[in-house]
Amino acid sequence: MSRFLSSAYRDMEAYVPGEQPRDRRYVKLNTNESPFPPSPAVVAAYDAEKGNVNLYSDPTAKALTEAAAEVYGRESRRLGGGDITPDMVIAGNGSDEILAFCVLAFFRDGGAAFPRIGYGFYPVFCNLFGVPFDEIPMKGEYEVDLHALAASSRNVMIANPNAQTGVYLPISDIEAIVSANKNRIVLVDEAYCDFGGESAVSLLERYDNLIVVTTLSKSRQLAGGRIGLAFSSREIVCDLNKIRYSFNPYNLDRAAIAAGAAALLDGEYFDRTRNAVAAERERLKERLSSLGFAVSPSLANFVLARREGISGEELYKQLKARGVLVRYLGGDLSDYVRITVGSADECDVLIEAVKEIIKEKNI
Ligand SMILES: *Cc1c(COP(=O)(O)O)cnc(C)c1O
Repeated sequence: MSRFLSSAYRDMEAYVPGEQPRDRRYVKLNTNESPFPPSPAVVAAYDAEKGNVNLYSDPTAKALTEAAAEVYGRESRRLGGGDITPDMVIAGNGSDEILAFCVLAFFRDGGAAFPRIGYGFYPVFCNLFGVPFDEIPMKGEYEVDLHALAASSRNVMIANPNAQTGVYLPISDIEAIVSANKNRIVLVDEAYCDFGGESAVSLLERYDNLIVVTTLSKSRQLAGGRIGLAFSSREIVCDLNKIRYSFNPYNLDRAAIAAGAAALLDGEYFDRTRNAVAAERERLKERLSSLGFAVSPSLANFVLARREGISGEELYKQLKARGVLVRYLGGDLSDYVRITVGSADECDVLIEAVKEIIKEKNI
């Protein structure tokens, strides 16, 4: 640390992203990326922008917000909600950027509340922007305290499915939180919703205090493209744009805008790949359970797992030594590892490594 750092940040702890090691090739099951390559339409869209990078990107990201409004509007109507128009959508440089904008725009006065087990970035953003927050203790191993969240006077951030357990709350539970107090914001982070949940976008028609955030990183093969989206009322999107234009108007580059739109519009590839991941997840759960693991009832593209006889940290290290990278989260979750659902081949390698460790340790 230099002696010049602002005093406000001297004690701040930054978010620690999952490892992206370059020392050897790993079976990489630690950061919830897709095991599939991007769709051919996405690759073509990226390529088509290569020759245009001398020009700034579109600050309104029109192609992307229009595609998002079309795709999520259809989903909203299917679930009994209303239309979504492009002015109800904002695009971010990853959904992390949108989460930051939301905390900055809406949470500074009322503070934030979120479940204690959740996405590690929420407290980090609150600390960065000086927002007070309450971490609501879990009710059981995997259960969030809905009642406490609904009763909190603070603005709520919640990942659905949960970012560490993968547990999904039905829309009726989300609605209970949103409707409990209409004078605060409820932000639902749906990074993992495409692997088995239903989006809360259909509630937007009835609640003007709801923000639904999603990302193209997990279910649309674009983690490295950095594309996030949020859906809300026109007024809230307008407020978020005020923050965005005050910070980085060209927050998405040309290729990201084009590729993001292409990914959203390639529904066939999206359905095929997300269904394959969901099927592989169920196979992984069964195999881990039969090897003596307690596995979270996840609807995401990962599972949280623990096993008698070995700590989360040791399991992580033993797997890494065998070329398989999983996420060790520590803290409240030091008994566990979080394992991304990889391809069938990658999951096979993981299971073989696990069997070897169990045998070697005689547990
Ligand atoms: C991965 C993830 C994000 C961030 O996604 P990006 O769009 O890649 O920034 C946000 N929220 C949750 C819960 C996530 O797991």
